[in-house]
Amino acid sequence: MYAVAGRVKDEDIALVRDRTSIADIISESVTLRPAGGGNLKGLCPFHDEKTPSFTVAPARGVFYCHGCGQGGDAIKFLMDAEHLSFLESIERLASRAGITLRYDSDNSPQRPQTGLRQRLLAAHVAAAEFYCDQLTTPGARKAREFLAHRGFGRDAAERYGCGFAPDAWDALAKHLRQKGFTAEELTTAGLTRAARSGSLIDRFRRRLLWPIKDLSGDVIGFGARKLFDDDDGPKYLNTPETPLYKKSHVLYGIDHAKREIARRGRAVIVEGYTDVMACHEAGEPTAVATCGTAFGIDHIGVLRRLLMDSDSFTGEIIYTFDGDAAGQKAALRAFEEDQRFVGRTFIAVGPDDMDPCELRLARGDLAVRDLIAGREPLVDFALRHTIARFDLDTVEGRVEAMRRAAPLVAKIKDREKRPEYARKLAGDLGMDLEPVLRAVNAAVRGDPAGPGTLGRPAAEAPQRLVERESLKLALQEPVLAGPMFDVVGPENYGDGVYRAIRSAVQAAGGAASASSGGVVWIEKVRDACEDLGGRAVISELAVEPLHVNGAVDPRYVQITMARLQVGSVTTRIRDLKSKVQRLNPVTHKDDYLALAGELFSLEQQARALREQAAGGL
Ligand SMILES: [Zn+2]
Repeated sequence: MYAVAGRVKDEDIALVRDRTSIADIISESVTLRPAGGGNLKGLCPFHDEKTPSFTVAPARGVFYCHGCGQGGDAIKFLMDAEHLSFLESIERLASRAGITLRYDSDNSPQRPQTGLRQRLLAAHVAAAEFYCDQLTTPGARKAREFLAHRGFGRDAAERYGCGFAPDAWDALAKHLRQKGFTAEELTTAGLTRAARSGSLIDRFRRRLLWPIKDLSGDVIGFGARKLFDDDDGPKYLNTPETPLYKKSHVLYGIDHAKREIARRGRAVIVEGYTDVMACHEAGEPTAVATCGTAFGIDHIGVLRRLLMDSDSFTGEIIYTFDGDAAGQKAALRAFEEDQRFVGRTFIAVGPDDMDPCELRLARGDLAVRDLIAGREPLVDFALRHTIARFDLDTVEGRVEAMRRAAPLVAKIKDREKRPEYARKLAGDLGMDLEPVLRAVNAAVRGDPAGPGTLGRPAAEAPQRLVERESLKLALQEPVLAGPMFDVVGPENYGDGVYRAIRSAVQAAGGAASASSGGVVWIEKVRDACEDLGGRAVISELAVEPLHVNGAVDPRYVQITMARLQVGSVTTRIRDLKSKVQRLNPVTHKDDYLALAGELFSLEQQARALREQAAGGL
């Protein structure tokens, strides 16, 4: 069957096949569910799929994928899934089953010719033991202190296999050479490297070490934390790419976490080794961390195969980030890249920017579990952080926040969810649903959402005309309009230039101070105007006809000033309503009641002004 099978005796291969449960082997990396007929199903590790077509038939000792056609026995599975040679696969299965292999002795070495992978794994086992022993030596005091300061005593250090690389150039190399490993094996394993002089030196020195294991619990590499100030290497150093260690797939803690990830239907992604330890110790045993690389598509693949639930992917991937800018950026990047899983992706941000390790230290195990329980859907997180940058108390701020947030909603692949999120966004912004939906739809079509299309509520254009009309009254008819004009302050003018002119009138002594209209008064206002644009507009306003038939009378002045205030009060009411909508009446009861009271009196004022504006008294 296999061309390279010559070296192991055929009857031993048959024995290994016989004693191996293919379901056990495959479920180390793929979660399998009963599929009827005694068969099991899972997500295929050989091709990307959302519904399982990967079938295992334990009775016949084979697997087959209806999606991509991969199939075979347990040996073939290890060869394909873990990139082992035939010999390495059979050796792995034999040692699991407690079978000692006999070899056809063509080139009859004394020591059985073992596969490279087995040798590299054996070197890692020996290295991990060596480093563990070193952790109790006097030289490792700093490493023990590092762990103790983070809440991990001797027990935890042992449970996680923490170790210490001593202050020597070749302590590990010497130790492993004595155990019979060759220089080439140690270098291939990433444990040592050749110095310029040609001698073999250890990769890790004077560092705290964590052994990194694969899904089956074999040590395949190490993560090393700097401890000493005069160590000018990076803070963390990891095993380089080796035949065992592929950093794009490696997840620290996965050996402990895999069963709980499958059982609880969630995986928690944390940032560091101590965060994994803290989560597991605190009762969240699904935590894993990438090792010196960003969480990527291959990591997701590893987790998805564990998270597979019945016939579809329903598991949750929860990222914890500290609340700093870098963490938020990472979360938003996840949003960009992770579209297929966006609905199943959550963010848990610790209070006061604390990571799980700090949180456990400061507030205990329960706080860590609360952090995970308080997770927020990624979409909600992204929207919240996007709109938080804007002042939602102003129309401009809300419109700008909507323009930035709408493309995020438009990006949600699951189109049925978009209206739901548009509604939520409208609520968070304190805006009507309709303009938000329009903005989202524009973003879906890829329209640049200019302020003109979404922009200002249409009610504001007539308001500008009223502001202009009242300024014309002050400039052209100061004697008649002055007393009524002067009591309506600059804050009622929404347009910046008009507000500057209103202020200039005040600076010139007020409209009521003008003994007559005409050039002298207009020059006085223009001189008082600090806004260059405003000065130019004053000349226009001084000559532009008033919108009145016949002579200006006090009633027209009164109506104009009332309309001006209706506009500004309406704007204030809208801003206030938006604020009230965004407040939680339960948690912010006092603020809520105060704003609601203010809103009530503003609405009364608006009603009275509207009556005046309509011409009544
Ligand atoms: Zn497949």
